[in-house]
Amino acid sequence: MRIVIVGGGAGGLGLATQLGRKLGRRGKAEVLLLDRNHTHIWKPLLHEVASGSLDAEVDSVSYRAHGHRNGFQFQVADVTGIDRQRQTVQIAPYCDEQGQELLPAREEAYDYLVMAIGGQTNDFGVAGVAEHCILLDCPQQAQRFHRNLVDQFLRVNRAVAQGDNEQRLHVAIVGGGATGVELSAELIKARQWFATYGLTHLTPDHLKVSLIEAGPRLLPALSERISVAAKAELEKLGIAVHTDTQVGQATAAGLETPQGQQFDCDMMVWAAGVKAPDFLTGLTGLETNRANQLLVEPTLQVQGDERIFALGDCAGLVLGEQDGRPMWVPPRAQSAHQMAQTVAQNLIRKVEQKPLKPFVYKDYGSLVSLSNYTAFGKLMGGIGSGSLSVEGRIARMAYISLYRKHQIAIHGIWRTGLLALSDGLNQWLRPRMKLH
Ligand SMILES: Cc1cc2nc3c(=O)[nH]c(=O)nc-3n(C[C@H](O)[C@H](O)[C@H](O)COP(=O)(O)OP(=O)(O)OC[C@H]3O[C@@H](n4cnc5c(N)ncnc54)[C@H](O)[C@@H]3O)c2cc1C
Repeated sequence: MRIVIVGGGAGGLGLATQLGRKLGRRGKAEVLLLDRNHTHIWKPLLHEVASGSLDAEVDSVSYRAHGHRNGFQFQVADVTGIDRQRQTVQIAPYCDEQGQELLPAREEAYDYLVMAIGGQTNDFGVAGVAEHCILLDCPQQAQRFHRNLVDQFLRVNRAVAQGDNEQRLHVAIVGGGATGVELSAELIKARQWFATYGLTHLTPDHLKVSLIEAGPRLLPALSERISVAAKAELEKLGIAVHTDTQVGQATAAGLETPQGQQFDCDMMVWAAGVKAPDFLTGLTGLETNRANQLLVEPTLQVQGDERIFALGDCAGLVLGEQDGRPMWVPPRAQSAHQMAQTVAQNLIRKVEQKPLKPFVYKDYGSLVSLSNYTAFGKLMGGIGSGSLSVEGRIARMAYISLYRKHQIAIHGIWRTGLLALSDGLNQWLRPRMKLH
């Protein structure tokens, strides 16, 4: 049996690891992971890559080496389509940085296919976003943001050193969800560390961060109390929070609302919504929802093709109804992780010719970290199985434990322990911020 997994993200890499260990190593199935990148970095850390708190070069996992260690094969491949009749996935030509074709367009055959290609930022068709805003969908974009940030810090520091105290860097972030809130706090920390590491003219007055949200409050997925507390905390850090402010257009000079409000910015980040990649809507015979997600059965097989599974941000599964509207499994790392576990069990059951099991979603809560200043969130299933609001140190520890859980899923407990130890040592051995 040949199992092909497309996408080695929060869900796909854990799945490939489990199947590689349980089926690949024992010769019960061939497991092939395809990803358009050579390395994996956990997506919820991308805002830290953008600010420089995390160095993607140091913290990423090489798919090829990880596959070698865990019994699956890996190919770098940008998948562009599926031929369901012939049971193949179509792969775009692979080109080098100069655009020179190194590998031609090709196909890979599957007996079972798992689509785990995640989501991408939704610009909702707002004019100018694609041209002028930076998105945080992949490590390359986060690294591009970081390089830009360093250049802008250098520009302002030099100008102020030469007496032009009016110069400042204005970064606007559109979207008051977890990504926008976390990134804005990270930028304040980045300025502090750059000032410590030699850009001494960069004072708090020289960095302006605006967080712009169309809805009435930040963090709509969390309670009103947490949302108010997070806003107060961000404002204490000097961040200008604009709620009820819908951006109608992005230009080279900044952002504009339909009412004519202008934000003159040097850098703009769009973090205002998620959808699955567009090509999923063009797959004949497979249905998608408004967010382009492939509709799946409770077993996580896509509706209309029992040989294809989907998980994570690209899978649409209705949990129930709220106010007459469908409630979908939320596009979160914990959903991708839980779905990957169900798909792993179901594929193993396929090999063993046992009936498949349905996916059961368990909400463990949500956490938001304002860099190392503070954190907020709610944890589910606490005392009396209700939800427990957490804040400060406990919330921060729970937030860090989410990444450790992901590391345990892919590296196992011992290796994760060693990684945690090396992270601790790196705090002493390496600069606290990526400075280039
Ligand atoms: C900045 C940021 C912060 C976030 N913070 C949190 C958080 O705190 N908590 C939380 O629960 N969630 C958070 N999320 C959401 C979370 O990251 C996603 O829900 C989760 O990563 C989804 O996992 P996935 O496996 O479905 O897809 P992903 O993790 O997105 O992985 C998809 C993989 O597919 C690959 N791929 C995509 N298209 C193709 C293709 N055509 N061919 C081949 N490979 C392809 C990609 O390279 C990637 O490796 C955050 C997201 C972002 C962007």
